[in-house]
Amino acid sequence: MGEIVLRDVEKAFGEVSVLRDINLSIKDGEFVVFVGPSGCGKSTLLRMITGLETVTGGEILIDGEDVTHSKPSTRGLAMVFQSYALFPHISVRDNIAFGLKIAGLPKAEIEAKVAQASSILGLDALLDRKPRELSGGQQQRVAIGRAIVREPAAFLFDEPLSNLDAALRVQMRLELIRLHERLETTMVYVTHDQVEAMTMADRIVVLEGGDIQQFDTPIALYDRPVNKFVAGFIGSPKMNFMPASPGAGGSVQVKNGPSVTIPGVHPDRMTAEMTLGIRPEHIRYSHDTGDLNGRILVEEQLGSDAFLYVEVDGIGMVTVRAVGERSFHNRQTIHLTLPPEHCHVFNSADQRINQD
Ligand code: ADP
Ligand code: MG
Repeated sequence: MGEIVLRDVEKAFGEVSVLRDINLSIKDGEFVVFVGPSGCGKSTLLRMITGLETVTGGEILIDGEDVTHSKPSTRGLAMVFQSYALFPHISVRDNIAFGLKIAGLPKAEIEAKVAQASSILGLDALLDRKPRELSGGQQQRVAIGRAIVREPAAFLFDEPLSNLDAALRVQMRLELIRLHERLETTMVYVTHDQVEAMTMADRIVVLEGGDIQQFDTPIALYDRPVNKFVAGFIGSPKMNFMPASPGAGGSVQVKNGPSVTIPGVHPDRMTAEMTLGIRPEHIRYSHDTGDLNGRILVEEQLGSDAFLYVEVDGIGMVTVRAVGERSFHNRQTIHLTLPPEHCHVFNSADQRINQD
């Protein structure tokens, strides 16, 4: 079992408040990712769950038991860090077995557990090597093996892939997803990388400035971000934002642009100053006609996609994602249209006001 509940958790270092009003309920077996910019409090939150950091206020429950002030070793959790923290002078086998030996388990039981973890992680051929004889990805696997043999209620990962090169990160990401499917154990995973969060999580906690901005599934965050921060943080290239105000007949008037009548956006929720948001793949584009006229400053052609960075008259830079498109090039004129059903509207407090 590995249900983790945080109630009104707070953290301050001296006078400085770094986390506030943290209320989270992580289900047994769930893969939850904490994502947010550097310094937003992700590691601190994870360390409070493990007990490596004290809690200033609120309570933490694991499987219903209050562990707020319990020692880390009694919480039944296993933590995997960015720095693998392996013992350099002993073999992979002994690194994986280390905690079990300290706990005094019988030799046969230790061997069986090491063999099982090794087979899950594909480490069989490496068991007699020393950590320095392994690649970064292999070392990370050993660190995970050391966690698996403890059969924890939950695995906690703090940016475990950030020391690896891009290709290896993608591979390890898939391995961790498959590991989670196989073990069905709760995993809480910290990253600043929204792509990792989107691809791995059952649910994502978006943190910013010490507050939870939104806790939901990847697709819910993408389709229905609660505010402008989440809208801009999730998705790559980023959502486009344009200043707007209430327009005639319940529409939204883009400054120096069209007025758009958006389903689910009602005048009673509008404020004098607003922001219209639209994702790059949702903008329609044409050689001949559209609501906005612009000039392509940069065309990033990836073959599968083309990202067009367009300087739009009176608005500024707008990013357009054009799947499979080959016919637009630098310095050409382009015409853009904003389909109403894909427009997000944020009020003056940056809260999304679409009702959907
Ligand atoms: P993240 O992991 O999201 O990058 P952290 O949880 O490491 O962020 O840090 C959150 C905030 O708390 C930062 O402003 C950081 O400077 C501060 N902080 C972290 N640890 C300490 C500490 N031991 N003493 C004082 N401030 C700290
Ligand atoms: Mg951190």
